[in-house]
Amino acid sequence: MYPAAFQYHAPTSVKDALKLLGKLKDDAKLLAGGHSLIPMMKLRLAQPKHLIDLRKVKGLTGIKVDAKAVTLGAMTTHWEVESSKAVKSKLPVLSEVGAIIGDPAVRNKGTVGGSLAHADPAADWPAAVLALGADFVCEGPKGKRTVKVDDWFRGLMSTAVKENEVLISIKIPVWPARSGAAYMKFPHPASRFAVVGVCAAVTLDTKGVCTRAGVGVTGAGTKAVRAKGVEAGLVGKKLDAAAIEAAAQKAAEGVDVQADLQGSVEYKAHLCRVFAKRAITEAVKRAGG
Ligand SMILES: Cc1cc2nc3c(=O)[nH]c(=O)nc-3n(C[C@H](O)[C@H](O)[C@H](O)COP(=O)(O)OP(=O)(O)OC[C@H]3O[C@@H](n4cnc5c(N)ncnc54)[C@H](O)[C@@H]3O)c2cc1C
Repeated sequence: MYPAAFQYHAPTSVKDALKLLGKLKDDAKLLAGGHSLIPMMKLRLAQPKHLIDLRKVKGLTGIKVDAKAVTLGAMTTHWEVESSKAVKSKLPVLSEVGAIIGDPAVRNKGTVGGSLAHADPAADWPAAVLALGADFVCEGPKGKRTVKVDDWFRGLMSTAVKENEVLISIKIPVWPARSGAAYMKFPHPASRFAVVGVCAAVTLDTKGVCTRAGVGVTGAGTKAVRAKGVEAGLVGKKLDAAAIEAAAQKAAEGVDVQADLQGSVEYKAHLCRVFAKRAITEAVKRAGG
């Protein structure tokens, strides 16, 4: 399979990429790692007349780590996150998510920004950014704006980034001391996409009581969501096995669980609960609980 004919553009600055987007409008698509867009073009599910490659655009790559946050340039590859010592020391769960995406070819080419702009319902990053509470910086003709993660995922493969904007970076806050986070997924046996994936983050006080929780669920529905019922079930509780089990029971609430070739609605809702329990249990362990 080969894609329909298109014109290729390789701007070197965000300004030039935005100019092209403004001129070519709906006829153009941004190209990052190409690991979602090119397969769609080969299947003729997408037929852009122009591709605007972001690979030469300055300022979109790189990982910045400080005491408060890990900031990933949109063009940072999954592998760069997986292998970053700085990320491992501040927010190791991000490296773990990067490490279980697809295969080495996908991880070396695919980008975090591409994944989060594409918003495949079975992608892994969405669960992590929802659980940890990320901010997205987008740039358009009128300048930059920041979008909170709760406003990012709009629906099936639909996000808050506008057609005349470029996603520039993703800022993920570092959680305080006595926090832990973990991501667990049931991978599709061929692609490794998440049939269901759950990321959980918790903060415990000195008595082991949960003071803050974030839980993101991906794979089961048309878009990744925060499992607010699970979060509410964790905060204020000492997180022993019974409390975790009870909270995890709410993992499919608010998810528009879809039946597909991987399983029925009931089965996928069951996986949400099982993987929520596993992710929370590991997060609590890492928080010192
Ligand atoms: C065999 C295979 C297995 C995979 N397994 C997994 C898996 O296990 N888990 C997982 O999460 N993913 C998986 N993926 C998807 C992979 O992670 C993709 O790399 C990712 O979803 C898209 O990133 P990309 O950089 O390739 O984006 P592209 O394919 O280049 O772009 C995707 C979309 O995002 C838009 N876009 C890209 N960058 C920007 C930007 N900066 N601003 C605005 N819009 C932008 C593009 O216009 C396009 O519409 C797999 C892919 C393949 C081919």
